[in-house]
Amino acid sequence: MTGMPKEAAAFAAPTRVPMLDLSSEFVLGKALNLFEEEFAAFCGTADAVAVSSGTSALHLALRCCEIQPGDEVITVSMSFIATAWPILYEGARPVFVDIDSKRYTMDPEALARAITPRTRAIIVVHLYGQCADMDPILEIAKGHDIPVIEDAAQAVGALYKGRRAGSMGSFGCFSFYPSKNLGGAGDGGAVTTQSPKMAARLRRLRSHAQLESYWSDEIGYNYRLDSIQCAVLSVKLPRVDRWVEQRRRVAEIYDRELKAGSIALPNASSDGIHAYHLYVIKDARRDQLRRALSARGVQSAIHYPNPIHRQPPYRDSQHHWNLPVTEELALHCLSLPLYPELSDAQIEAVIQSVLDARG
Ligand SMILES: *Cc1c(COP(=O)(O)O)cnc(C)c1O
Repeated sequence: MTGMPKEAAAFAAPTRVPMLDLSSEFVLGKALNLFEEEFAAFCGTADAVAVSSGTSALHLALRCCEIQPGDEVITVSMSFIATAWPILYEGARPVFVDIDSKRYTMDPEALARAITPRTRAIIVVHLYGQCADMDPILEIAKGHDIPVIEDAAQAVGALYKGRRAGSMGSFGCFSFYPSKNLGGAGDGGAVTTQSPKMAARLRRLRSHAQLESYWSDEIGYNYRLDSIQCAVLSVKLPRVDRWVEQRRRVAEIYDRELKAGSIALPNASSDGIHAYHLYVIKDARRDQLRRALSARGVQSAIHYPNPIHRQPPYRDSQHHWNLPVTEELALHCLSLPLYPELSDAQIEAVIQSVLDARG
């Protein structure tokens, strides 16, 4: 205290001293609550719980399924590796089933054959932005009382028979990684659910499983999402459907103009809205086509060259997986550039380059 006479200091209001000079709004603040409400409304679910990534969303969803070591979780091998990480995180055994040759998503008949008394959960993937054939999958799961987790990381804005991706199973898992259909300014994710009880549990688990301050009665995680990401996502969310429309317009042009070529085009089912996170063609000489496009300045990518079951963390010497459709797609798939910002000239350049190589 400088300069203040002793008597005056004695009568002044007490100086408040907070524990920290830091706004707690940076994490789990108002922006988070707002984004969670908006995202749940967008998906048509009772709740949405924002988390740090798509991978943490999948982990928390599977954690809520109460897996015991040695339990089996059925999923597909044709996906980004993160789809299956939570199965290993929880000490369960991944059981890979094949995809159907049109949608490239979980084959319901293969699912039915793979169920055993140890099956505890099913993780379906809405690959490339198209929903899996959920009705038969949900029916099979219901018959065995097994929860279904939707990996909707690529399917923000996709619909299946009028229902949003992420609103059909017990949990919907989303990624807001910048390249996704709804991308943040960094990592992010969300779990959607129709169960208020599960939403409360997910909120505890994402923040150290604390029931109250400094008391946890089970293993928790730091899977929180920063407020700054929520604020960015709240600004972008109202624009997502328009961006999906723009993606679909590009896909429609590709469909029309590339029909003449000798490549296999994506099969968008008429029972829903394909969100076209990726536009994936198939070609028997894929690598040669990729080089030809590259020589003309057209980039392309492969989603995915190595199915999950063939990568070391998932190799199981006891088991040979028979996944012919998965293996064939991994060998022949090629993703062409597709995003809302593509100009007409760029779209034309892609079409011309493909037709020159495969017309
Ligand atoms: C991106 C992605 C994930 C993982 O999301 P992250 O936010 O990168 O953790 C999981 N599954 C699929 C299908 C994805 O495309």
